[in-house]
Amino acid sequence: MATKMSLLAFVDQAQQLPETRVAVVRKQDYKEIYGNFDSHMAAVQASRCSQCGVPFCQIHCPLGNNIPDWLKLTAEGRLEEAYEVSSATNTFPEICGRICPQDRLCEGNCVIEKGFESVTIGSIEKYITETAFQMGWVKTPKPAHENGMSVGIIGAGPAGLSAAEALRRKGYAVHIYDRYDRVGGLLIYGIPEFKLEKHIVERRRALLEKAGILFHLNIEIGRQTTLEALRSQHSAVLIATGVYKAREMDIPGNALAGVTPALDYLTASNRVCLGDTVKEYESGALNARDKHVVVIGGGDTAMDCVRTAVRQGAKKVTCLYRRDRTNMPGSAREVKNAEDEGVEFLWLSAPKAFIGTQKIENILATKMRLTAPDRSGRQNVTALGNAEFTLKADMAIAALGYDADNVPTAFGAPELHVSPSGTLAVNAVSQMTSLPGVFAAGDIARGASLVVWAIKDGRDAAEGIHTWVKTQSIDQEV
Ligand code: FAD
Ligand code: SF4
Ligand code: SF4
Repeated sequence: MATKMSLLAFVDQAQQLPETRVAVVRKQDYKEIYGNFDSHMAAVQASRCSQCGVPFCQIHCPLGNNIPDWLKLTAEGRLEEAYEVSSATNTFPEICGRICPQDRLCEGNCVIEKGFESVTIGSIEKYITETAFQMGWVKTPKPAHENGMSVGIIGAGPAGLSAAEALRRKGYAVHIYDRYDRVGGLLIYGIPEFKLEKHIVERRRALLEKAGILFHLNIEIGRQTTLEALRSQHSAVLIATGVYKAREMDIPGNALAGVTPALDYLTASNRVCLGDTVKEYESGALNARDKHVVVIGGGDTAMDCVRTAVRQGAKKVTCLYRRDRTNMPGSAREVKNAEDEGVEFLWLSAPKAFIGTQKIENILATKMRLTAPDRSGRQNVTALGNAEFTLKADMAIAALGYDADNVPTAFGAPELHVSPSGTLAVNAVSQMTSLPGVFAAGDIARGASLVVWAIKDGRDAAEGIHTWVKTQSIDQEV
């Protein structure tokens, strides 16, 4: 029997997260570190919501999730309705509940954050959706009728998948093309298992396939086939290819063996977790075992690298970040998780050179100091004089972020306009690019961002495509 709670309980009920596996145990494997609420805990935690008239949590959720309503329904034990409300605006709530940086989004803006600590929105969203899967409330997104049109989607990451789901519901035949051998994009090959176990993504893939969405894997557009070919096969095409051009460190020694881009390292680790044989892992090139590992960067990718290195059995793992803890772009929760797992953070420190003969042996670094904020409000940094130091490193992982690859060149489509930062330029409402009937969504249009934004863009693009295709058919009839 479900627990039923009245609301506004934040004064009496303390914030509680689901059980978290202790660091000494969890760093021995790659399983997710957070457990799930039981029905009583979910109701108690949901009841802490004060049902704000202007819910800042919702405003700061990129999907505009109707958080107060599904918290109320959870507190009242009306879980099937809670799932209906939550899944109406979010295609993959069980994924967002796990990996959204909630401390920067919904929970970080919950008005009871100050003094009482926020409502645990993400964990409740995950609980609602996991319950829905268990109870059979999650239905295959099948259309009521086929509309005879087809859409080609390039990229099976969260942007492509959320668009596919929405288009399939509207009756389109949906074909997704991806150069990888698995569906999920960075959900599979970027984000580590300890944040998102891969069977969670696989469960969605199976549902989408059951709905009739066709996956064409191991096909790279621009190499094996062209954008033009897809345009001639489909009523519309969506480009959802993500951003993969790693920013490099322009310092001496960056070509030494052992200096590695973050995504190569994480992809190898994820493949090994999935049971693949990865030669560079076997040879030690992309394996941190028994090494002094230094990760450079302060974002979520850097946190994923340090925590993966811990699990691979590194001797010592250090994160070098040029700003301080307050100015770090990564989620504070992930920094805390990394610290608990034994990672050492060297704040206000930046590399000057990688030192070694053929392989990296040390890093020459310098201390930095914060200067005035830039236009975004974030403080800049400058090197301190006479503050150099050396750090032992058998492996240095560069996690400095990603830029967009040159899609117009890769796709042989110079008519595709790009933004000043190199992402595909799209209409803000329809997501259509400068090529009629070609749309773009996710990181390739927005720049390196978050899964929840990719989902939002994919849903918006599906609407844009539907409107455009309908308009085209009306024009043809006239
Ligand atoms: P992607 O997920 O990158 O998917 C793009 C797909 O397109 C890929 O499958 C790729 O193979 C395919 N593709 C590319 N080019 C072609 C081509 N020419 N032909 C065919 N297929 C092609 N966000 C969070 O919200 N929370 C996190 O915890 C988080 N952790 C992250 C950790 C790492 C290491 C990284 C790198 C990113 C992380 N992000 C996180 C960001 C998030 O993963 C991305 O914002 C999101 O995946 C973008 O979705 P997308 O669909 O646009 O692109
Ligand atoms: Fe919060 Fe993300 Fe869920 Fe929105 S989708 S409510 S930001 S966890
Ligand atoms: Fe509830 Fe916090 Fe959202 Fe207000 S801001 S509606 S208290 S979750």
